[in-house]
Amino acid sequence: MSKDRPHAVVTGGGGFVGSHLTESLLDANRRVTVLDNFGSGRPENLASVESDHLEVREHDICDPLPAFTDVDELYHFASRASPEDFASHAVEIALTNSEGTRNILDAAREHEAKAILASTSEIYGDPDVHPQHEQYNGNVNIRGPRAPYDEGKRFSEALAVAYEQQYGIDVRTVRIFNTYGPRMRTDDGRVIPNFLTQALTDEDLTVYGDGTQTRSFCYVSDLVRGILAVADAPPDRVAGEAINLGSTDEIEIRALAARVLNVVETDAALTYESLPQDDPSQRRPDITKAKELLEWEPKVTLEEGLRRTLEEFRKRV
Ligand code: NAD
Ligand code: UDP
Repeated sequence: MSKDRPHAVVTGGGGFVGSHLTESLLDANRRVTVLDNFGSGRPENLASVESDHLEVREHDICDPLPAFTDVDELYHFASRASPEDFASHAVEIALTNSEGTRNILDAAREHEAKAILASTSEIYGDPDVHPQHEQYNGNVNIRGPRAPYDEGKRFSEALAVAYEQQYGIDVRTVRIFNTYGPRMRTDDGRVIPNFLTQALTDEDLTVYGDGTQTRSFCYVSDLVRGILAVADAPPDRVAGEAINLGSTDEIEIRALAARVLNVVETDAALTYESLPQDDPSQRRPDITKAKELLEWEPKVTLEEGLRRTLEEFRKRV
């Protein structure tokens, strides 16, 4: 890899968001090292990325990072993120967002690199403030089934604050709201891959609860554009900040199911299953901060994003 480009390390770069981020970083003139244990990620996600500036290493981020001669940016995107994995991979998730974050922050300190942490709207829990702005401290069940993920991410943010305060490093945190797009695992368990896979195989779409709970879905290219805007912004604007990134187009899950049926053009029906414990009843980001600091807002409509995702899912389902 040529040394005349900034070196970015991307943990979780073999996953859904991480692989799109890696591609965009290469396009933005970085050389990229991906570190991934390929638990929920897939090497195929990077197979189409042809670049002399990319290196992919199988590595668990709970172990200290490999020795690098130079690092300019660290993007910590490793972590399973599907609620379906929260029980079966609870310990791995909690450690990836604590031990793993520690390893990233230590590397940032060692190399005097900036760190970009992937946090989540889940840190707001089942919110009683709507929409969720960055000053809201959330409503998380600390002992519930989502706790390893939610509290793991909250600890990850707290550890970043500790490193900033004690060692003065530059950490930027993105609080990502529900994001979807090509390369999500067809059996990921999250709602859009589930609905698309079910619709494509003429199965009934599984709506949990009565489907009146809401989410706001952001297409992956919009998210990645926001992440790069955070990474590229001057430190006096974003260092030490946590910034919501997501769509403000809020929709009930039963309405999402209807949209998917329409896009896939199938007569599949809906079937109602029980609502998982602590499933947030509403979610929509307040993105005023991202608009003001970064002039960022999503552009791709849900309709268009679903079509693009469907096109790629058709090749795999
Ligand atoms: P994903 O499962 O597709 O990607 C996660 C990647 O991290 C995978 O490639 C996986 O193999 C890797 N990984 C997990 N644990 C690891 C470990 N210990 N060591 C090395 N690699 C490890 O999920 P995603 O949706 O792409 O999520 C990526 C990041 O974005 C996560 O940090 C997640 O919390 C965050 N996020 C995503 C969303 C979303 O809607 N997609 C929302 C909020 C936050
Ligand atoms: N959901 C659903 N059917 C599914 C998968 C999920 O109705 O097959 C619901 C889930 O209960 C939640 C919403 O869709 O209310 C979003 O779920 P997802 O797992 O995608 O993400 P979350 O926002 O809960 O982390």
